[in-house]
Amino acid sequence: MGARQGAVLHRRTQGLRSQDQPVPGAAIQAGRHGTELQAARIFLYAAASKLDRKAPDASKWSAMAKRFVTDVGFNVANDALQLHGGYGYLHDYGIEKLVRDLRVHQILEGTNEIMRVIIARALIGRQ
Ligand SMILES: Cc1cc2nc3c(=O)[nH]c(=O)nc-3n(C[C@H](O)[C@H](O)[C@H](O)COP(=O)(O)OP(=O)(O)OC[C@H]3O[C@@H](n4cnc5c(N)ncnc54)[C@H](O)[C@@H]3O)c2cc1C
Repeated sequence: MGARQGAVLHRRTQGLRSQDQPVPGAAIQAGRHGTELQAARIFLYAAASKLDRKAPDASKWSAMAKRFVTDVGFNVANDALQLHGGYGYLHDYGIEKLVRDLRVHQILEGTNEIMRVIIARALIGRQ
């Protein structure tokens, strides 16, 4: 969910820049963000598949996916805001709303710190 919103936001950013000469830094960021969003999407589907199959390590995968996907989604949107400079922060452009909306997913449904605790316990074999 967060990653998808981040991807939409990123496309808007690229559209804005394509009217001018492409900004090399922005193109490099687009490559990085596209890769991270794709990795997040794959991770999300893998964790969902584990849950569907009732795999014994589904909880660990779910915690990993929740943390990773929500962190990537927020970071991509936040970077896109930064790319627009001061305009990115303004209400008029809508990016700050996406950043705020994505930020809460790092808190909701178990904070990402708690996800790290769950992952650590699973990795060291303690429940
Ligand atoms: C917009 C919004 C909608 C919400 N909707 C719902 C809802 O529909 N249903 C529902 O049940 N709840 C809902 N919540 C509550 C949400 O699930 C909690 O805010 C969330 O689980 C975090 O709990 P807390 O706020 O009590 O933070 P706390 O548990 O007080 O944590 C505070 C901070 O300390 C960190 N922390 C706590 N324990 C540890 C630890 N052991 N190790 C490391 N760090 C730690 C946390 O990560 C966090 O950063 C909503 C919250 C918001 C903001």
